[in-house]
Amino acid sequence: MNDIEIAQQTEMEPIVDVAHKVGLTEDDLELYGKYKAKVSLPLKKKTQTKGKMILVTAINPTPAGEGKSTVTIGLADAMSAIGKKTMVALREPSLGPVMGVKGGATGGGYSQVVPMEDINLHFTGDMHALTAANNTLAALIDNHIYQGNELGIDQRRVIWKRVLDINDRALRHTVIGLGGPTQGVPREDGFDITVASELMAVLCLATDLNDLKKRIGQIVIGYNFDREPVTVDQLGVTDAITLLLKDAIKPNLVQTLEHTPALVHGGPFANIAHGCNSIIATRTSMELADYTLTEAGFGADLGAEKFLDIVCPRLGKTPDAIVIVATVRALKMNGGVAKDNLNEENVEAVQKGYVNLQRHIRNMKRYGIPVVVAVNKFATDTDAELNQVIDLCKADNADAYISDGWAKGSKGVIDLAHAVVDACDQESDFKPLYQPEDSIEQKIETLVTKFYGGAKVEYSPKAKRQIKQFAKLGWDKMPVCMAKTQYSFSDNAKLLGAPTGFTVHIREFVPKLGAQFIVALTGNVLTMPGLPKVPAANGMHVDENGKISGLY
Ligand code: ADP
Repeated sequence: MNDIEIAQQTEMEPIVDVAHKVGLTEDDLELYGKYKAKVSLPLKKKTQTKGKMILVTAINPTPAGEGKSTVTIGLADAMSAIGKKTMVALREPSLGPVMGVKGGATGGGYSQVVPMEDINLHFTGDMHALTAANNTLAALIDNHIYQGNELGIDQRRVIWKRVLDINDRALRHTVIGLGGPTQGVPREDGFDITVASELMAVLCLATDLNDLKKRIGQIVIGYNFDREPVTVDQLGVTDAITLLLKDAIKPNLVQTLEHTPALVHGGPFANIAHGCNSIIATRTSMELADYTLTEAGFGADLGAEKFLDIVCPRLGKTPDAIVIVATVRALKMNGGVAKDNLNEENVEAVQKGYVNLQRHIRNMKRYGIPVVVAVNKFATDTDAELNQVIDLCKADNADAYISDGWAKGSKGVIDLAHAVVDACDQESDFKPLYQPEDSIEQKIETLVTKFYGGAKVEYSPKAKRQIKQFAKLGWDKMPVCMAKTQYSFSDNAKLLGAPTGFTVHIREFVPKLGAQFIVALTGNVLTMPGLPKVPAANGMHVDENGKISGLY
């Protein structure tokens, strides 16, 4: 059976019953049908406020698949099964990967969140609300320019782009306002995918509606003819943009296949944005459950680093344990095996590819938080290969456990669950990778040389100019959000394993004053992805009763 078939044959509990498990009553919920709800905030009654938090991250992804969400969900069900009051806080899927390369993003096998079709498609409308709010602001900017341009916005220096929640390469670079004097002022524009937008980051980093409003007001939409930044507050539309997000800011409650409560809220990508679900969802979960599991996108070089250096200071809490997900198949690919040969046993390649996991283990340990490795078991893995990973981790002083939630649900993850509970009881002594007062160059150099394993950083002439400009404006104290390929520690997707001696190329910076970080665009990373030759969309079907198949 594939993921969607397993999900469809599982009987869900009414969401009101799921909510009761963590002390939420019907008064705390805004129901979206029988199986989805938004949680009204602030909570009427907090059951406790000192819940432990576990961050799930992974090695660099390969086409062989890692299964971070699958492990996170399986682990949550296993922790519930051993009697721990547990919740998961996950990101909402974007239609880009759903229709493109990946299919659904709600876990897999017997470790999923449901209703998977709804969560993967329009869910409670958060993505649409973000797209609408983003494009409303874009329309207001162009209208301001057209109606006399009181703020003197230089139309060549507008940095606020339009967005769409689908991969659409044809919209990366556009020209708008064509057709004559009454059709607007012509200028170059372009679209990003919604999950790379600043509004998505702002929604995920805001602590409440007031904070959301403040952050939206601070957003820099471009520069005036004197090259000074222009903000949303100056346009006078902060409230209008905020009110479009008044429901999207509330976390969405669903359940796992074994009925563990799950908050699925906010979904920035980790390669071109900060890659973690909303602070509001994670906080809510920590107020309700003894253990919160949250996942950061792609490998630990992207999502986990951003969680620890960008999200944690705003969350006011660092993880009690970090779980790094690895698979035998992905390690074999990192060890040089081609995708077509992954089904053959190859212990030597596992050992060779282990260097990728090893660097991630060492990187995560730098933060001073206990680390546990989860080896997500695939049916083709042999005992010799699985044991090889566990032994290699031991030699690096990291405990590793097989996670078999995909095939067995919670039953396949019990050992890992006990290990994670134990890890949460160990001492931790959090040390961030860099300090806010470090210069932009110092922050990036630390990331590249101390974390990615590279040799140096090269800046384009534009990036060099921006560093000076940002320092003058006082923007250099914000964290840096690297936009980088997810496949490699470097900015070259082809350098697998644990490359050294490479140079990371910084093409351009994008200031995100609402999110309060600076995006550094490396290599040729794109903020509007394209669809592959045969998109996942080509395998999808819906019957006359609305029953969906092919969503994986
Ligand atoms: P990630 O969160 O790392 O992107 P997911 O958990 O979404 O990965 O899993 C990606 C795909 O891989 C899903 O379709 C899932 O069913 C599949 N998958 C994950 N783990 C396994 C496994 N152990 N065996 C087979 N397929 C798996």
